[in-house]
Amino acid sequence: MLSPFALFGILIVSCVMSVAILGSLHRTAVPGVKRWCQAYALLAVASSGVLFAGDRPRPFAIVGISFVTIAAVMLLLQGTRQFCGVKPIRRPEFAAFAVVFAALLYFTCVVPSIAARVVLLSAVLTYGRIVVGLLALRHAPRDGARYAARFVALAAWVGALSHIARIVAAASGVVPPVTFVQPSFWNVVLLGLAIVSLPCMSIGMVMLAHDQLVRRMERLATVDELTGALMRRAFMEKAGVLLSGARTTGTALSIAILDIDNFKAVNDSFGHAVGDRTLTHIGMVALGQLRSCDLFGRLGGEEFAILFVDTAKSDAAALTNALRLALERSPAEGIRCTFSAGVDRIAPADTLEGAMARADAALYMAKAMGRNRVVTASEVDAPGIAAPR
Ligand code: GH3
Ligand code: MG
Ligand code: MG
Repeated sequence: MLSPFALFGILIVSCVMSVAILGSLHRTAVPGVKRWCQAYALLAVASSGVLFAGDRPRPFAIVGISFVTIAAVMLLLQGTRQFCGVKPIRRPEFAAFAVVFAALLYFTCVVPSIAARVVLLSAVLTYGRIVVGLLALRHAPRDGARYAARFVALAAWVGALSHIARIVAAASGVVPPVTFVQPSFWNVVLLGLAIVSLPCMSIGMVMLAHDQLVRRMERLATVDELTGALMRRAFMEKAGVLLSGARTTGTALSIAILDIDNFKAVNDSFGHAVGDRTLTHIGMVALGQLRSCDLFGRLGGEEFAILFVDTAKSDAAALTNALRLALERSPAEGIRCTFSAGVDRIAPADTLEGAMARADAALYMAKAMGRNRVVTASEVDAPGIAAPR
């Protein structure tokens, strides 16, 4: 049978490896990683303490190991909360841990009881693992990391189960309570489960951090920082995918090209920084107004495009006009911004570029007609109205 000493040796090595792997993510500034790293370092210290204290640990060693273990659980929880974007420090939790530590002191120095200590420390570890698993699952982003979150939760809860079994065994007296390193069958099985699940948890945390980094990079590569709109390349790619889908399903697609009116004057009168903030405001209004199924992209400068899904040309023109009115009615920093737009449908036989060129021609017509208006491509072709180019 595996000796608990060997298991603790494995635990120390796996904790040190977890620190090294999580530490490699330190410079990426993924929130929570620093605390995870510190937690695993403390777990390595606590396990070394258990190993060196032997099967008849002195009271000061028990107190020290308990303190370090509780601190590690706290850091693990705080790191996970930080990663999930929620408040990391909870006062009631802090107070509860302090009470548990006081009780551990009592059952070590005043009324020594292995059973009580096993119950208390295992309860802290169980709580930590259950909450880490719940946080990972509840806050996993919908567009990714489900696998990593499930992996963390599974590892955390397998560990929690082994701690619960230790609590039940110690509290019921079914299995005589023993210190961590005594070579009883149940000690080895439960410790083994708890120990194996710890590095699995850290691997899951690395996967979560990695997934967050990938999404961050994807966002940097596809979303315009200033306006929140898709960058031109990402817009064209996504619009191309929607167009191919629409060709098979027969879904109606329409496109609008927007250009802010007299934007140069905003820069010239108020400065480039105000111009930038105005663009941010325009992006916010547009993203707030448009439906989630539509694509909003920044083609360059102060020119934008909207791809309306499942929308006929007249409806797309109405939606674009609603956006025009919404922007007109919400001045930013006292600057009332308007735009001109050209709209056309994208027929199944169209290329995206062809439809955009027609919408662009309609946009130039809107500018020629005095700005702050939406023109559909059919109006450009109407007799008596000459397109400006
Ligand atoms: P029109 O109504 O004919 O479109 O007039 P306009 O002044 O908007 O058109 P023009 O194309 O002459 O000017 C666009 C201006 O948009 C020029 C450029 O400095 C400004 N611009 C483009 N991108 C940015 C940006 O990211 N930030 C700021 N502040 N200004 C930008
Ligand atoms: Mg303009
Ligand atoms: Mg322009």
